[in-house]
Amino acid sequence: MMKIDIRELRKVKGSSEAFQGDLPDISLDLPGQKTAFRSLLVKGEAANTGEGIYVHGEIRGTADMVCSLCLRDYSLDFRTPFAENFYREGDDFPKDADQPPLIYHGEEIDITATIREALQLMLPMKPVCSPQCRGLCPHCGCDLNIRRCGCKKEDIDPRLAVLGQLIINDTNNSSK
Ligand SMILES: [Zn+2]
Ligand SMILES: [Zn+2]
Repeated sequence: MMKIDIRELRKVKGSSEAFQGDLPDISLDLPGQKTAFRSLLVKGEAANTGEGIYVHGEIRGTADMVCSLCLRDYSLDFRTPFAENFYREGDDFPKDADQPPLIYHGEEIDITATIREALQLMLPMKPVCSPQCRGLCPHCGCDLNIRRCGCKKEDIDPRLAVLGQLIINDTNNSSK
């Protein structure tokens, strides 16, 4: 849980306050992807806009993920921004917003949900441990980053095989 005390901030329109804090580890269970976040540090600023409280800042930390190609665990150091407007319960808020406004109660704003959403948005659709990852052999399942299996390469899609043939022919012609 991360809460910002806005007792003083609420009193003066146009004022702003910096905040900073560590977060407990978070794990997100997304379809086909489990990610754990650790060493989380949140830095930001809350501003009294007159209408509401604008909260923005940056999350830093480490994400432990599983590579979608080779299925190995890997870690990624990241920093990612967040920004959100909060309105006090009972106050006026802009009606033109496409999303229902975020409401806070009392003298504190809980930004836990905002943080979780920012972390979720930061995740790649297909996490890959490295741009050079070779993934798993589609035949025997061995990790091609670690060893080369004996599986035959001729098993590739026949249409691609034809393409390979054309390229070879072309190379032969140009060398003449
Ligand atoms: Zn990988
Ligand atoms: Zn293989």
